[in-house]
Amino acid sequence: MVYDVVVVGSGFSAIAVTINLLREMPAGTSIAVVGDDAGFGRGTAYRTEFHLHRLNVAAARMSVFCDLPDDFRQWLGDRGRPAEANAFASRGDYGLYLRDRFAALLRERRQDVRLDFIRAKATRCMRVVDGGYSFELATGSSLDASAVILCLGLGNADLPVSHQNDAGDRIVENPWRLNWLSHVEPEEDICILGSGLTMIDQVLALRERGHKGRIQVLSRRGLVPHSHATVGLTPSPPQLPETRAISKLLHALRAQARDAADWRVVMDGLRPLTQSLWQSLNEEQRSRFLRHALAWWNVHRHRLAPPVRQRFEALLNAGTVAVHAGYLQSMEQNDKRVVLRFRKRGGSDIKEFAVDRVVNCTGMERAGLKHSPLLLSMQEGGLLRPDRLGLGIVVDNVSQVCDGGGRAQQGLYAVGGLTAGQFWEITAVPDIRVQAHAVAERIAKSIDPV
Ligand SMILES: Cc1cc2nc3c(=O)[nH]c(=O)nc-3n(C[C@H](O)[C@H](O)[C@H](O)COP(=O)(O)OP(=O)(O)OC[C@H]3O[C@@H](n4cnc5c(N)ncnc54)[C@H](O)[C@@H]3O)c2cc1C
Repeated sequence: MVYDVVVVGSGFSAIAVTINLLREMPAGTSIAVVGDDAGFGRGTAYRTEFHLHRLNVAAARMSVFCDLPDDFRQWLGDRGRPAEANAFASRGDYGLYLRDRFAALLRERRQDVRLDFIRAKATRCMRVVDGGYSFELATGSSLDASAVILCLGLGNADLPVSHQNDAGDRIVENPWRLNWLSHVEPEEDICILGSGLTMIDQVLALRERGHKGRIQVLSRRGLVPHSHATVGLTPSPPQLPETRAISKLLHALRAQARDAADWRVVMDGLRPLTQSLWQSLNEEQRSRFLRHALAWWNVHRHRLAPPVRQRFEALLNAGTVAVHAGYLQSMEQNDKRVVLRFRKRGGSDIKEFAVDRVVNCTGMERAGLKHSPLLLSMQEGGLLRPDRLGLGIVVDNVSQVCDGGGRAQQGLYAVGGLTAGQFWEITAVPDIRVQAHAVAERIAKSIDPV
């Protein structure tokens, strides 16, 4: 059979798209979800078992439904969990919320839309001569679709230097495979590369698992995410200058942040303007932003729940965790340890430390396509082109994937972080849910009722 829509992925983007399709698709249509992960909807972010892994977005903004903004708070309240607008729930609970809402929708749904789940990795996608797309799956089977929505998330960034991983699991290249934690001895010295949200997650998970050793954190700037305010703030949209010169834009934002009672109101006021601001930049300006302002942006924009920041600060103050700003030069393994050499930021001194384990938390934003055989095969077949700045794949302003020649392809869409080149702010729930709704609605409207 030929499905009307195939959704590929099993994280938040996939469940948000599927929920919207179930609400929007006309009678008699069919949907297949192809995902390689058992917990549909949880993806990388919401499958954690650690209660201290909190959401970094307040409950009031985490509903999966654009038209029911308080739905997640309602779910929390129904279960006796703190449900204030600025509560930061656990990410595990958020995974349960998604599962519950999806299950309820399946129970209530009209029986006239067919939904099939196929647990498999999609490995190849080709265009079919008379329209539509055909997928090959790792299981050896294949399936055909009139429309496709790629919800693949982002791969993990590569380590910043090469190494020979001949010492088993002492270099953890992908920390999201959480089983690495079970190999850690309590007194191990650990180095974490990268100082963002992923690093914080891993530090907290280590402590939770009884790790007592020292943790060295190394990143180019040594910047750690700030905390959300402990009270709800009212965002204040900043006055942006006419120019799109990055230095002038940043200067204006910094000045307004300095004058505000709390700089967060300016960052939060910028949020609704971010996508259009990004789209008004040319490629050179975007590239300058990524080179000069990305680290600054990340720590101010993607903030920590206050209790999480407090825990991390306690570890810093106790000397358990130390954060270094510097450039990794080399990483060598000897019999028992991994020796890292780095040049301190702003100097020429080379420092080194020897640790038992290194964990790569250098992030996701610019992980490219090479983690995904599916995306690579689509690139080879001319079905997509990588974004020139390394921010996923090129899509148009309605999320249709552009082919190798830059033309938007009817019926082929991407949702989530893969589309950051077009939208920039498209990695968190409040942005993805809007995109998921728009894409589902567009596909549903394109189908002639039977
Ligand atoms: C640790 C962490 C915490 C976060 N916390 C928050 C938060 O508090 N609030 C917030 O708004 N956002 C948060 N985010 C942002 C988060 O990225 C989004 O909320 C959302 O989870 C992204 O979902 P996704 O489906 O796009 O990607 P992913 O979660 O990465 O899911 C993609 C899925 O697709 C599957 N897949 C990939 N390729 C294939 C293939 N070829 N075939 C089949 N399946 C495939 C993968 O296995 C994976 O399960 C967090 C992100 C992380 C990593």
